[in-house]
Amino acid sequence: MDFTLTSEQADLRDKARKFFEDVLAPLEPIAEEHGHLPEEHRVPLRQSVIDWGFTGINHTADNGGKGFTLLEQAVFDEQLGRASCGLWAAVARPATCLSEATPAQKERYLKPACRGERRAAYAVTEPGAGSDVSMIKSSATRHGNGFRLNGEKWFVTSFDEADFLIVQANVDGDPDQPTLFLVDKDTPGIVHLRSPRFMHDYIYDHAEILLQDVEVDADAVLGGIGQGMDLTKDWFVEARLQIAAHTIGAATRAAETALEYAQSREQFGQPISQFQAIELKLADMAVQIMAAQSMLYRIAANIDRGADRKTVHAQASGLKLFCSEMAGRVVDEALQVLGGRGYMRENPVERLYRDIRVDRIWEGTSEIQRLIIAGQLRKRGFAPYLDIEIA
Ligand SMILES: Cc1cc2nc3c(=O)[nH]c(=O)nc-3n(C[C@H](O)[C@H](O)[C@H](O)COP(=O)(O)OP(=O)(O)OC[C@H]3O[C@@H](n4cnc5c(N)ncnc54)[C@H](O)[C@@H]3O)c2cc1C
Repeated sequence: MDFTLTSEQADLRDKARKFFEDVLAPLEPIAEEHGHLPEEHRVPLRQSVIDWGFTGINHTADNGGKGFTLLEQAVFDEQLGRASCGLWAAVARPATCLSEATPAQKERYLKPACRGERRAAYAVTEPGAGSDVSMIKSSATRHGNGFRLNGEKWFVTSFDEADFLIVQANVDGDPDQPTLFLVDKDTPGIVHLRSPRFMHDYIYDHAEILLQDVEVDADAVLGGIGQGMDLTKDWFVEARLQIAAHTIGAATRAAETALEYAQSREQFGQPISQFQAIELKLADMAVQIMAAQSMLYRIAANIDRGADRKTVHAQASGLKLFCSEMAGRVVDEALQVLGGRGYMRENPVERLYRDIRVDRIWEGTSEIQRLIIAGQLRKRGFAPYLDIEIA
């Protein structure tokens, strides 16, 4: 088992790190000041993502993407995760379920998204349907040759940046027919209700929207009627790996910031790093990050090797749970090492502290991940978690 990065993977990591340093980091104070990134800064940022060759990295070349493996994406995302204020989100990742699109849908949505010309927001959650997605009430009623969508969607991330939506709704209101629809954002009947402020400062919004008799053609269905839940679950896998990588990046940056401060800050006549109470915190940070990173690389490589779908789902849950909780502990301790300076908004650790809290909530809360894992244990025992293959 060799986890050494190839020279291409190491180059990718270094390029992503440089992108963070040169492009994303200078935007942090602006995003923090406004609570989001104003449009005048978004325009050059969109262009930078294109210029650096970072659009459509998760889709195959056939579909207009760059075809990064999951391990490459993990190495890449880890560096982007250093950025606070969700600036990593500028590197859009067209949802994996778009690979199920018809040729015409690919031309209209996926390929332009892979070129950085279009962007989706994924609208699943509703006021009454959060962890329990089966409670979705949004409906798609058959109408002429197409459908009429009605419902209310919450927490629609990047609604203000997107120009199309992936909406989950039940065909004819039947919960057994959850279906994804591709809907252009300017379709009449899509009403923006509000974009509330959240704990973190995030470059884009998390909107609440109404779907009021939104008329779409039959060819707006993505993947097939009734496939909505399966496609959304596949999207969760990808999103959970991304969260794992981002949180490792955030934890690493926070820990490095804490180490640097601890080595230079003198109190009681010596650098505070020489106090065991501080040194041991730093030691715990290093070990936790190391464990999370090993887990991420192993699972990403496993999926790249073609692990079966159930194992992939099981492992992605465990990974997301571990990494998001690890980052919560590490960033909290890093902030403590920085003392009052760690509590200042101008300090990246303060921003990361607020940023990573949501990673225990979105794409399935920690409780839901534990339930998924417990369910796997009931059905399959520990096998999905200990699947070391012997060559
Ligand atoms: C900033 C942000 C961005 C988001 N972006 C998007 C997006 O782009 N698209 C989208 O569709 N959604 C998005 N979401 C929604 C997100 O996925 C949900 O918030 C999440 O799934 C939890 O649902 P909920 O908030 O309704 O909490 P609830 O489901 O109401 O849960 C409340 C609490 O109860 C616990 N709980 C629930 N069920 C159980 C159970 N069976 N056993 C034990 N505990 C349980 C939960 O873990 C949680 O602690 C976003 C959320 C946030 C905060």
